[in-house]
Amino acid sequence: MLFIRCPYCHQRVFRFFYSGHKENHQALRPDGQQNEYVTLHPTGRYEGTLAGVPQCYRHPKCGVVTRMPEEIIRSYLVNPFLYGAGSFCCGCGEHIPEEELFWTETGQNMAEYTRELRDAYIRKHGAPPPAQG
Ligand SMILES: [Zn+2]
Ligand SMILES: [Zn+2]
Repeated sequence: MLFIRCPYCHQRVFRFFYSGHKENHQALRPDGQQNEYVTLHPTGRYEGTLAGVPQCYRHPKCGVVTRMPEEIIRSYLVNPFLYGAGSFCCGCGEHIPEEELFWTETGQNMAEYTRELRDAYIRKHGAPPPAQG
């Protein structure tokens, strides 16, 4: 394939330009967040209600609560393997391992929550999805 479907902006990008293109998305803004994060294409995201889905997480070390962007929530509800390395903390201004973050709505540890979503995905589909990005 000559083109790659970019998982950050969902444009088709010429293969030879993709690594530079991806680096631009992953570059950090002054506040420490990436320019863009991997998401599913808007047509492939979870479209149901987010009632009952945890959306804010607290980092006990700094005490600050961060809201998860909706497009990311709607992506990992479909594919819980998209993320997992860590999540941005507005208090620390950097990405923190999921093991250190807790949902304010449920009190559940984020790493544990991700594991549950992944287990449910594998029970339903039989295997993890192909890697992206
Ligand atoms: Zn892109
Ligand atoms: Zn923090």
